[in-house]
Amino acid sequence: PGTLYVVATPIGNLDDLTPRAARVLAEVTRIAAEDTRHSARLLAHLGVNTPMLSLHEHNEARRVDTLDGYLTAGENIALISDAGTPLISDPGFVLVRELRARGRHIVPIPGPCALIAALSGAGLPTDRFVFGGFLPAKPGARRQALEDWSAREETLVFYESPHRIMHTLEALKETLPARAVVLARELTKTFETFLQGTPEELLSQLTEDPNQARGEFVVMVAGALPVAQSEHQDISADELMKTLLDEGVGV
Ligand code: SAM
Repeated sequence: PGTLYVVATPIGNLDDLTPRAARVLAEVTRIAAEDTRHSARLLAHLGVNTPMLSLHEHNEARRVDTLDGYLTAGENIALISDAGTPLISDPGFVLVRELRARGRHIVPIPGPCALIAALSGAGLPTDRFVFGGFLPAKPGARRQALEDWSAREETLVFYESPHRIMHTLEALKETLPARAVVLARELTKTFETFLQGTPEELLSQLTEDPNQARGEFVVMVAGALPVAQSEHQDISADELMKTLLDEGVGV
């Protein structure tokens, strides 16, 4: 039987496709793509005319048997999404789960991923982070989701739909007003920018310069202070006050 290659593709800069990914896309006999018209541009750029079939959230479950049939026949297949790493807020999980359950050979071809690129340039702690995917679209649910994440000590990372960044900053201003936030915008593209500040500061930056509110974003939020540390800080503030009073420092 053949192999399923899970291939990462660029998130905005074609030069980011790895030589190994290019080789695999040229050598497989079929490419399952989230949007075949979108991926046709990438394949044209590579001079590859491997046949494609669509695999998106609406047909993924149905595609499993079809693709498994090709593997059984000895074909090698690549899975790609519109941008970045398949399965990361993109289709592919159901396919990989099912094929793995059937004992198929599955090989990831790593490469661009907006989440990792954003973290690597942000300057927030990366030893531990939680990826929240896309926040809910509805304002109430979005605020609730942020509240649910608020006690986490890890850096929080979210993907954002292009048109919702201002709403998300509003929700952050309400729920986590004192946190450091970093917005990674248009990663790997001409107008790549990193903006940082409190939610309120970022809101005013984006209001003053609406160009900064356009494009694709990864939103990163500093984690909560460890409980032990914040308690410790409270205790030491109390202790400091007591010491000052004991020493007769005028209050
Ligand atoms: N599978 C992709 C990956 O590996 O990053 C993510 C796909 S998800 C449908 C699309 C979201 O990823 C965008 O809404 C944005 O939050 C983020 N994203 C993708 N490309 C980006 C870029 N060039 N700059 C900033 N964010 C990006």
